[in-house]
Amino acid sequence: MNPNLTTDRPTFVTHLECSLTGEHYEADQLHGLSRAGRPLLVRYDLPSIRAVAPRAMIAARPTDLWRWRELLPVRRTSDIVSLGEIETPLVPIPRSGGPNVLVKDEGRLPTGSFKARGLVMAVAMAKALGIKKIAMPTNGNAGAALAAYATRCGIETIVFCPDDTPEINVREIAAQGARVYRVNGLIDDCGAIVGKGAAEGLWFDFSTLKEPYRIEGKKTMGLELAALFGWKLPHAIFYPTGGGTGLIGMWKAFAEMEALGWIGSERPKMFAIQSSGCAPIVRAFEAGEEHAERWEDAHTVAAGIRVPRAVGDFLILRAVRESGGRAMAVGDPAILQAVEDAALKDGLLMCPEGGATLAAYREALRLGLVDEDETAVLFNCATGLKYPMADASKTLDRFGEIDLGAL
Ligand SMILES: *Cc1c(COP(=O)(O)O)cnc(C)c1O
Repeated sequence: MNPNLTTDRPTFVTHLECSLTGEHYEADQLHGLSRAGRPLLVRYDLPSIRAVAPRAMIAARPTDLWRWRELLPVRRTSDIVSLGEIETPLVPIPRSGGPNVLVKDEGRLPTGSFKARGLVMAVAMAKALGIKKIAMPTNGNAGAALAAYATRCGIETIVFCPDDTPEINVREIAAQGARVYRVNGLIDDCGAIVGKGAAEGLWFDFSTLKEPYRIEGKKTMGLELAALFGWKLPHAIFYPTGGGTGLIGMWKAFAEMEALGWIGSERPKMFAIQSSGCAPIVRAFEAGEEHAERWEDAHTVAAGIRVPRAVGDFLILRAVRESGGRAMAVGDPAILQAVEDAALKDGLLMCPEGGATLAAYREALRLGLVDEDETAVLFNCATGLKYPMADASKTLDRFGEIDLGAL
């Protein structure tokens, strides 16, 4: 048995805090957004963690997500509904990327995407807080992860997705026990339905950043990077940005680790990558704005980052700016080319959102924003197997004459 999941460990959440105003909220209570309508961040008693959980102790544990228990919000081990949240590997892609390019391959996680990190945490907290029914808008992967974890512990789920969500995602969500509806609109249109039902008390709203714990799950990507790089961080991180949970979470993880004395003050340049068919964060970044306006007529093959409006926009923009990074958009043709290159040259089948990070890395290299000697981590956030692939096969008649040498 995994000791990370069988041993009760001390927990250190002190309170929650509005990410915009700093207003405090009580821990161990049901919360959605803050009164200012912004995401709540979980705060910990870091000096106490520093005293009882030295880095070497955490490092000696089995390397799954629950190794970080002291830095996570779940109080009781019995509330954790695990499907095996492994530490994901860094896969070099020397031919399609370059000598110092590593892909953090999140497709290895349960339900085939990194949404599992956020949802395993949010569902554990929902279970702890007695939530019985959850609704969520999704572009696919989040709904699948929610369905899997919630079903596993008997929480009812209703999931709304845009009607052109990849077929496999829609079926996967239903197969894992959620009721799934295709909506003739985008993810924020789905979110409006979820919000309406939540306001009527019909269910709890699990939209991105509208409950406080998905960030804590996604934060583990930042913790893992530090551990994998020997308690240093890479020079640059390329993150496919929709709602931005992972980027915000990693940035938070870096600050917490510095406060714990686990890492120094150096930070990677954070690159928030979007598709040019839906790039609200890029537009706001370039205009020097603190908030991003809704992107109209959003379209891209990279469904996971087709998010016209992000409630945590200012947190994404702040992290990117503070890090000396940049928000960048890449077009669908470059995305598809990158996916093809990584598969054909390096044998790694990425999802389109992952392809976007590779396309953006190449562009950043051209623009001199990163150097080939610098270590760059690209996030591939779902397995490429969940997305439509071109059929390049030919047929063979086994009863006819087969010219084997010509195959
Ligand atoms: C959800 C998703 C993203 C975007 O993640 P955020 O943290 O919401 O910005 C990127 N890629 C894939 C495959 C996704 O499913």
